[in-house]
Amino acid sequence: MRTCPTEKNTKMCNCTYDPCPRKGLCCDCMAYHRAKGQLPACYFPDDVEKTFDRSVAKFVETYQSRGRCF
Ligand code: SF4
Repeated sequence: MRTCPTEKNTKMCNCTYDPCPRKGLCCDCMAYHRAKGQLPACYFPDDVEKTFDRSVAKFVETYQSRGRCF
């Protein structure tokens, strides 16, 4: 059985929401935000991530104005 490399994932995670039980558990993180019509923190540049607006609309707006940030 494979185990999730949470320590490695956490080192790459730019999320500033703390505490979050999904930190480092990318599959849970993705599923949680997808169910809410959002994307995880790592799809946003740091200054946008800090607003905690993880909506698809914010992602599209940011992507269109800045290009790929992830
Ligand atoms: S992006 Fe969301 S689910 Fe993922 S670690 Fe941050 S707050 Fe938790």
